[in-house]
Amino acid sequence: MRIFDPHIHMTSRTTDDYQAMYASGVRALVEPAFWLGQPRTSPASFYDYFDALLGWEPFRAAQYGIAHHCTIALNPKEANDPRCTPVLDALPRYLVKDNVVAVGEIGYDSMTPAEDTALAAQLQLAADHELPALVHTPHRDKLAGLRRTLDVVEESALSVEHVLVDHLNETTVKEAKDAGSWLGFSVYPDTKMDEDRMVEILRTYGPEKVLVNSAADWGRSDPLKTRKVADAMLAAGFTDDDVDRVLWRNPVDFYGISGRLQLDAPAPREATHEGNSILRGGA
Ligand SMILES: [Zn+2]
Repeated sequence: MRIFDPHIHMTSRTTDDYQAMYASGVRALVEPAFWLGQPRTSPASFYDYFDALLGWEPFRAAQYGIAHHCTIALNPKEANDPRCTPVLDALPRYLVKDNVVAVGEIGYDSMTPAEDTALAAQLQLAADHELPALVHTPHRDKLAGLRRTLDVVEESALSVEHVLVDHLNETTVKEAKDAGSWLGFSVYPDTKMDEDRMVEILRTYGPEKVLVNSAADWGRSDPLKTRKVADAMLAAGFTDDDVDRVLWRNPVDFYGISGRLQLDAPAPREATHEGNSILRGGA
C-alpha cells in the first residue's frame, strides 16, 4: 500500500514518526506552512520557517524514504497580526520554488476583515503562480465558514477546481462537493473526523476528489491516521483501488496541478550512526 499524507506538520514531529510512517506505507507528504503555537513577532520568523520547509525538512524526510513537498502562505490566525502581515509581500519569492506545490494553508480562523484581505490576496497569488490552494475551514461555525470561503473563491481569479477545502465533515462536505472543490478530511484521535465517520462519508459521497490527511502537528494527533483510514476502508469492503485512489492518486492529482511533484524519494537509510550524524550536521 502506498500512502500520500496531503497535510501534516513534520516540523513538530520526531524521526520516530518518520520511521513509523514509512513502515505504514507513507511515501510522500505535503507540509503546509502554519501557526507554530507561539506567535511570531516579525516577518523574519516566517522566512526562517519557510526556508526550513524548503531545505531541512525535505532532507530529513528523505533519510526515511519519504518525498516531502510544502505549501507556503500566511496562515489564517496570524493574518490578524499586523506584525506578521508584511509577509504577504515576500510570498512571491517563495512561491516560485520547485518544492512549493500550493499556496496554503489559507482561509478563515475567526472570519475577521483582516482574514478576508489575506485570503483574497493569497488566492490571487495562487492564480498568478499557477498553483492550487489549500484552504483551511474554521473549527467553529463550520458551515458559515465554508460558505464564506466558497464565496471568496468564486470572486477570485482561481478556479474552485484548483482549491482543496480542508477539515470538512458531515455538515460541510455536500456544499463543498457541489461547488466543485477538492475535499479534504483531517482525521484526528478524538476530535473532528474519525476513521468510521470517514468511511461513512466515502460510502455516501464516493471517493472522487476526496483526500484524507492526519494534519498531525504539535497538538494531540496521530501521523498514522492515513493508514488507519485505509485499513478501515478495506474492512468496510472498499477495494485496493479505492484505497489507492483516496490515499495516493487524489493527492497526486491535486498537488500535481502545480507541475512540481517529484515522487522519487530515495530508499530510507538504515538507522546507522552515519545517518544520524548526517542528520545532526556531523555533531
Ligand atoms: Zn494544518
